[in-house]
Amino acid sequence: MTRLLTQLLAVFFCGAFSLTVLAQLSLTDEERSYLYSKKKITMCIDPAWMPLEKIEKGKHIGMTADYMAILQKKIGVPIELVPTISWTQSIEYAKARKCDIFSLAMPTEERLTYMDFTRPYLTIPLVLATKMDKFFVVDISKLEGKKLGIVKGYAFGEILRDKYPSLIIVDVDSLYDGLEKVNRRELYGFIGTLITIGYESQRNFVGEIKIAGKFDEQWQLGVVIRNDKPLLKTIFDKAIADISEKQKQDILNQWLAIRYEQVVNYRDLWPWLILSAVFILYRFYVLRKYNEQLKCLSITDNLTQIYNRLKLDAELEQQANLYDRYKQPFSVMIIDIDLFKQVNDRYGHQSGDVVLVEFTQAIKKHIRKTDIFGRWGGEEFMLIIPNTDIHKAMIQAEKLRLLIAKHNFKIVGHLTASFGVAQFDEENNTIKQLISKADKALYQAKDQGRNRVVRL
Ligand code: GH3
Ligand code: MG
Ligand code: MG
Repeated sequence: MTRLLTQLLAVFFCGAFSLTVLAQLSLTDEERSYLYSKKKITMCIDPAWMPLEKIEKGKHIGMTADYMAILQKKIGVPIELVPTISWTQSIEYAKARKCDIFSLAMPTEERLTYMDFTRPYLTIPLVLATKMDKFFVVDISKLEGKKLGIVKGYAFGEILRDKYPSLIIVDVDSLYDGLEKVNRRELYGFIGTLITIGYESQRNFVGEIKIAGKFDEQWQLGVVIRNDKPLLKTIFDKAIADISEKQKQDILNQWLAIRYEQVVNYRDLWPWLILSAVFILYRFYVLRKYNEQLKCLSITDNLTQIYNRLKLDAELEQQANLYDRYKQPFSVMIIDIDLFKQVNDRYGHQSGDVVLVEFTQAIKKHIRKTDIFGRWGGEEFMLIIPNTDIHKAMIQAEKLRLLIAKHNFKIVGHLTASFGVAQFDEENNTIKQLISKADKALYQAKDQGRNRVVRL
C-alpha cells in the first residue's frame, strides 16, 4: 500500500519521466523516498583535468559530464555543479559538505574518512611520462633517486609513496605544470593517467614528451559520495551498474575524437595505447599539413607565385654544398627586363604587375623541372641550373632570350630582357663571387644595348 502511494506521488510530483526512469533501476522503497525528498545532488569536480573533466565558462564538460548526464537521467534528480577553482578546493568543499559527490575519484584511506566510493565506472592505466630521449622503463622501482612529479592531492600519490619508498615523488600543481617541469628537465618523469597525459602532451608537448613506462596499478575511478548519506551511494551504485558498455565506448570515442570498431577491454592497456598512437599520429598529420602550408607561403613570391629571394638564397647554398661534396658544377643566370620603368610610366604600375606575371609564366613553361626559378627582386629574376656548365647555360639563356623577344605580351606587346650568366667552379667558389660575376655580365649586356646574353 505504501509502495503504491509513493509511486502515485511520484507520478504526481516528479512527472511520468522520472517514473519510467525509476522503473529501470531496481531501487528499494527507502532509496525511492530518499530521492523524492532530495531536490538536487550537488557535485564538485576537478576544474582542469581534460579530457576527463573541466569547468569551462562555468559549465562542466568532458567525459565525466557525459557520464553525469546519463546518471542524472537514471536517477531522476538534477546533479548540480558547484564550481571550484582547483582540485584542492574541491576537496575542501567536500569536507565542508558543500558538495554531495565528486564526479570521479579514487578511494584512499584518507578520503574514506569523509567520503564513500561507488563501484568504478572508468579504469585507466597509470603511466610515466618522460622526455623523448629517455629509455623505456620496464621496472618503475628501478628509478630510485629520480625525481618524479605527481599532481598534489591526487589519490595515487599516497598509494605510490607507500608502495615505492625509494622513488622521490614530488608534488606539482597540475598536469601541465608537471609536464612542463619534465620538459625543462627539472623532473625526470611525471606520473599520471595514459589518457590525460596523452591528451595534454599532444596539445602542448608534441615531439617533446613520451610515455616511457607503465605502472601495475590501474586507476579505478568511481563516483565519490559523502559518507553520511549511505542511500545516495547505493543509488549511484545501481545507476552505474546500469550504464552499458556501448555508452562507455561512445563517450570514449567522442573525447578521443576517433572511431574504432572493436569492443574495448578496459583492463587492457593496448587499446588505449593504440588509440593514443592513432590520435597523436592524426595530430602530427594535421600539424605537418599546416607546416607545409606555412613553408609554402614563406618561400613563394606574392605577385608571381614563383620562388622568392629567401628560397633562392637557400637553393644557392644547397647547390654550393653539393659542389663541395661532388664537384658537380652548376650555373646561374640573372634575368632583367629591359626598360621596364617605361612600361610602368606608360601603362601604370598595375599593368606592370600583370606583365611581370606573364613574363614569369612564359619562362616557367620553358625550363626543366630541376631548374630553380625565382624572383631576385623587382623586375629581376634568377634561374639556378643544377648540374650544368656555362656552355649549356649560355645555350639555355639564348633560348629564353629569344622566347621573350618573340612573346606577344597582352598589354605591352613586345619586350626584351638581358641575361648575365655565370658558373660556380674552382674560381668562383663562393655564392657571393658567383652572383657578382653574373651581375657584372648583366651590366655588360645592358651596356652593349640590351636584349642579349653575356658571360664574362
Ligand atoms: P634597364 O633594366 O633596361 O636598365 O631599365 P629598367 O627601366 O628596367 O631599369 P630600372 O632598374 O631602373 O627600373 C626597374 C623598374 O621596375 C623600376 C620599378 O618601378 C619597376 N618595378 C620593380 N618592381 C616592380 C613591381 O613589383 N611592379 C611593377 N609594376 N614595377 C616594378
Ligand atoms: Mg633592374
Ligand atoms: Mg630592368
